[in-house]
Amino acid sequence: MVFEGFGTVAGGSSHYDFLFAGGGLASGLTAYRLRQLFPDARIAIADAGQRLGGNHTWSFHTTDASLEQLEWMAPFISYEWAAQSVAFPKRRRTLPTGYRSVTAERFAEVLSRQSGIDIITGQPVMSATPDALVLRNNQSLHGQIVFDGRGPMATPDMSLGFQKFLGLEIEFEEPHGLEAPIIMDATVPQTDGYRFVYVLPFTETTALIEDTYYADGYQLPREALRDEIMAYAARKGWRVKSVLREEDGILPIVLDGDIDAYWQRLEGAPAPIGLRAGLFHPITGYSMAEAIALADHIANAIAQTPKVQTADMSRVIEAHAKSRWKQHSFYRMLNRMLFRAAEPQQRYIVLQRFYGLPIPLINRFYAGQNNWADRFRILAGKPPVPIGAAIKALPANKTGQMVEEGLLG
Ligand SMILES: Cc1cc2nc3c(=O)[nH]c(=O)nc-3n(C[C@H](O)[C@H](O)[C@H](O)COP(=O)(O)OP(=O)(O)OC[C@H]3O[C@@H](n4cnc5c(N)ncnc54)[C@H](O)[C@@H]3O)c2cc1C
Repeated sequence: MVFEGFGTVAGGSSHYDFLFAGGGLASGLTAYRLRQLFPDARIAIADAGQRLGGNHTWSFHTTDASLEQLEWMAPFISYEWAAQSVAFPKRRRTLPTGYRSVTAERFAEVLSRQSGIDIITGQPVMSATPDALVLRNNQSLHGQIVFDGRGPMATPDMSLGFQKFLGLEIEFEEPHGLEAPIIMDATVPQTDGYRFVYVLPFTETTALIEDTYYADGYQLPREALRDEIMAYAARKGWRVKSVLREEDGILPIVLDGDIDAYWQRLEGAPAPIGLRAGLFHPITGYSMAEAIALADHIANAIAQTPKVQTADMSRVIEAHAKSRWKQHSFYRMLNRMLFRAAEPQQRYIVLQRFYGLPIPLINRFYAGQNNWADRFRILAGKPPVPIGAAIKALPANKTGQMVEEGLLG
């Protein structure tokens, strides 16, 4: 698909058709998709970090995206597996659902190889308006559409719990013997909320092992988590040769919120994408599936109205995000079940039971596409925790404190 009219923006070299503040997951995928569909468009991404994408391994289930989407984003894939497994005290299961990972290194490499996208790194955006960005070096960039993909925005409008984790990419002395990822190993002691270990076997002798907690608080005791990972590897009989890399995250888990108030705060700002647009899975905090879908949604809107401006694009994204928010209300209720109605040591039972359900339902759950029958099925029988308490329970909002501590926004 080639659209006439791009690449002809008046104003010289600092003028772009599509301009991105922040070069993380959502910005990178959207810029890439726009470049594929509108090869004449002038695109720029400005990121505060020294390379795009930061320090992440982003993973997703192959059923989170359509075949067409898997195809267009295929160059980003670093690793893929045909199956995945889970383990709980009373359930073990291997699911024939594919799993794929994108490393930040590869993400940055694919984008930097892509001609037609100007990448500016090491320059924090100091001011962002609907038609321009000003960088720390005082450089001004102008855009027909300015997107804001600078990650989550601090807000008093959402009540949150947290999925926090630390991961070590480890090289072992001998092959670990794993052929597929362990998505959740919840046979570990249940401390600090719902806890599980996540293992991605990258090669025969390397793996990323993450110690993960669904916790009320967002403190991350890094040293203790490193020790836990080493202890887990030892219990598996895997002898550590060296630690290749470390990553950590504190992801928002939404329990409830006021979506209209949230979007009112974004009035007059650049068009938000990614976590800033509230587009992430409410239970896992993951955003790959939403980022792929949003990139397509934005591209379709531009294909229909090539000269769309930032304000119109914000409305397009707002409508999309609000419709996803509505679809996700069931997930927020499940979160309240997980975080408020269940005792921290008992939270795993919710997931242990969930993983006994049919595989297509589990796949729709991760893709954020559950239907009424799924919801009934998830809640049918004797729920492991009281649903009434989950519906009523509302937590304290902690985002203000997180901002003060430099963890958000
Ligand atoms: C360690 C980790 C692992 C994760 N793993 C997964 C996973 O496996 N699967 C999944 O789906 N999700 C995962 N997530 C959750 C989520 O998908 C990511 O947080 C994702 O990166 C969010 O995308 P985003 O584009 O909204 O923001 P980000 O990817 O965080 O991008 C924000 C970008 O904005 C830049 N920035 C911030 N402020 C400024 C500024 N003032 N000026 C310029 N640039 C700025 C940052 O440097 C960053 O590059 C993970 C998160 C973390 C932290």
